[in-house]
Amino acid sequence: ARMRRIAVRAQPIGDGRTAVVCADTGRRRDAERMRREFVTNVSHELKTPVGAIMLLAETIDDAGDDVEMIRHFAGRIGTEAKRLDGLVRRLIELGRMQDDGAREQRLVDVRDVVAGAIADTDVAAAVRHTDVRMRDDAAGVPLTVAVDAGGMRTAVKNLVENAIHYSPEHASVTVAVDAVDGAARIRVVDHGVGIPPALQQRIFERFYRVDPARSRLTGGTGLGLSIARHHILANGGKMDVWSKPGEGSTFTVVMPLASQAPPTRTRSLEDD
Ligand code: ADP
Repeated sequence: ARMRRIAVRAQPIGDGRTAVVCADTGRRRDAERMRREFVTNVSHELKTPVGAIMLLAETIDDAGDDVEMIRHFAGRIGTEAKRLDGLVRRLIELGRMQDDGAREQRLVDVRDVVAGAIADTDVAAAVRHTDVRMRDDAAGVPLTVAVDAGGMRTAVKNLVENAIHYSPEHASVTVAVDAVDGAARIRVVDHGVGIPPALQQRIFERFYRVDPARSRLTGGTGLGLSIARHHILANGGKMDVWSKPGEGSTFTVVMPLASQAPPTRTRSLEDD
């Protein structure tokens, strides 16, 4: 259990009165420790590809005119640069996550969110020759939710990106939408490597990767799912995973449907 430290301090508030101020310093220390751990993790993740790129550049420098060797090392520099690029993108997503302005909620149909997310992954899909498709299982029924649409789009995009990266080339990924029990449901279905049962909850932790070597090749950071889950929870939704190694994975997002009634207008002075 977490240790709680309460700092108590007396503070004069005028009229000869004194207020007693209690601060939960244990909580503050937890936050500080988490921030420190985060910075250490990010620094480590940055250091590895930067170090590799420097070493590879030196090796190319020493390669003389061995074209094959130069090509090989140039390719590896590309892989490491991709990893750096992935990390920087995720850090930008994390930064946006903390930006309150971006969290403004509006009414959107989850189909639009899903279509946007699929569009965002077109390059990754093309590179791996993956067919990503939306399947509408709600036939014309509105699937309106009140959400921060940008955050939701990022969340679904991260799930689709994973589905592409953890499937073989030429695979197919389906994003099915429907309604269940007054909620909109989004299921991202792949037929990829799957996730061992014991690790299915750990994958939502920041920087956690089942297979760091594989994740590295795809520019993985271990941040995608924690960012996705954050956005889903922040919008009042839930996220779940079903997976079987060798068969594939399904990530399910459930968001409460917004009531279809138009917003009630409150009377103001301007009405008179
Ligand atoms: P990464 O950038 O490494 O993909 P994520 O946070 O998105 O980071 O995912 C964490 C880990 O969860 C991945 O490294 C991978 O091991 C596992 N994972 C996520 N999605 C899938 C999936 N669709 N199929 C198999 N494994 C997955």
